[in-house]
Amino acid sequence: VATAIEHELRSLVGADGVLPGSATPYLSDLTEERGLGGHADAVVLPRSADEVAEVVSWCYEAEVPIVPRGGGTGYAGGAVPFGGVVLSLERMAAVRSFQPLVWRIEVEAGLRTADLRRIVRESGLFFAPDPGAAEQSHIGGNIATNAGGPHAFKYGVTGAWVMGLEVVLAPGELVRVGGPLRKDVAGYDLKRLLIGSEGTLGVITAAWLRLLPAPEVFLPVVGFYDGIAAGAAALERVVANGLMVAALEYLEGSALAAAGGSFPDGVPEGASFLVVAEADGSRDEAVRLREDVVQALSEGALAVRTPEAPADVAALWRWREGVTFAVTARRGSKVSEDVVVPFDRIAEGIEGTVEIGRRHGLEACSWGHAGDGNLHSTFLFRPGDPEEFGRCERAVDDLFEMALGLGGSISGEHGVGVLKRAHVADYLAPSLVSLQAQIKRVFDPKGLFNPGKKL
Ligand SMILES: Cc1cc2nc3c(=O)[nH]c(=O)nc-3n(C[C@H](O)[C@H](O)[C@H](O)COP(=O)(O)OP(=O)(O)OC[C@H]3O[C@@H](n4cnc5c(N)ncnc54)[C@H](O)[C@@H]3O)c2cc1C
Repeated sequence: VATAIEHELRSLVGADGVLPGSATPYLSDLTEERGLGGHADAVVLPRSADEVAEVVSWCYEAEVPIVPRGGGTGYAGGAVPFGGVVLSLERMAAVRSFQPLVWRIEVEAGLRTADLRRIVRESGLFFAPDPGAAEQSHIGGNIATNAGGPHAFKYGVTGAWVMGLEVVLAPGELVRVGGPLRKDVAGYDLKRLLIGSEGTLGVITAAWLRLLPAPEVFLPVVGFYDGIAAGAAALERVVANGLMVAALEYLEGSALAAAGGSFPDGVPEGASFLVVAEADGSRDEAVRLREDVVQALSEGALAVRTPEAPADVAALWRWREGVTFAVTARRGSKVSEDVVVPFDRIAEGIEGTVEIGRRHGLEACSWGHAGDGNLHSTFLFRPGDPEEFGRCERAVDDLFEMALGLGGSISGEHGVGVLKRAHVADYLAPSLVSLQAQIKRVFDPKGLFNPGKKL
């Protein structure tokens, strides 16, 4: 029997656009492995921006919370509902217009990231942001979290590629911020405010995105080292030598031990640190850059490899994407964060993660986007062991303290969601916390957009 809320929503979007609140795929995200699950009153699947506006309008009038949902791949619990209506953008995945000759596309928010990348690639273009779960995540979710990814080192995070947004704001108004424009300084930069707002200020329904001509080749170089000191020195040499690589990634300790078994061609004996630095561009340009990168990574390395065939390069990145799951498998579960530190403090951040694990009697490791100083610092635990999980949570408190002590931040790309809310005030001055709360109230006076998240 449909609930009253389901009944009302059906009148707006049709019977096939409403699911019961008990529809489990909509009640969790990747934080499920940390035990986070939610509940909802209904799930709504609008087909158009106008339907989104009608749903928001009804929810705003009836004072029902709205939890926007993309692909549900978040690591901060941002899409996990705690009552109210889950508004999933999955049926809004259309390309509204594509102008390859001016490197521009307008897409609906529910288009999957990998589909977007494939569509533009067919016309020789490149959408640079490449967050790991691209086959599942939506462009709307990427924008709402301002997602990064390996190639953000050279190309910047998702927000750098957003020219304009179509959004539904309270109390149900469909507006456009920016557009097919490469520049726009008329008024405060509301587009930037919405980017990374984790569904707490409104619902993104579509975006105008900037594209680039696709690089001709991607030529990664992989270096293996016997520890953090040698690996971090290699990372620093790449940057200090002015080598503009597209991606600069690392894996340390248990992360390499967990994922090394499936590394293409195997990991050399004694390696406990891996660096991937990728040259891209035209073939000549990338080959030249790769020579310099090989030189920079060779000093102190146990081995250096240069996969070149497109299939081998793809296998390397597929392996890299699977690291998070290999690490989880090591002990059954993990608590993984995404702190960010200044690039020149990265060795301290990696060593600090290991030390915090030691202090709490936990297996700890990290990997991530070294060029951006972005560490996926991780502590492993056995599922069903609340004592060990409790130690992981305390280790995370120490981790945030360490990152802030190094001049960093508690989140580089996954966002605050529900998990990091308590720590925002450790990072922002009280006056800035208050300013953020005021901004939230201006956008969302009834506090209905994704309540309990971000602030
Ligand atoms: C294997 C793996 C690798 C990953 N690698 C990376 C990485 O390299 N870099 C990175 O940044 N992240 C990474 N992530 C995390 C995650 O994929 C990203 O945060 C992604 O951007 C989330 O997109 P989503 O569509 O799944 O959003 P969801 O998880 O559905 O939602 C995330 C947040 O955005 C809000 N939201 C979603 N859609 C909208 C909308 N249309 N309007 C308003 N708010 C909305 C939600 O309310 C929620 O707060 C990874 C995750 C996995 C599982």
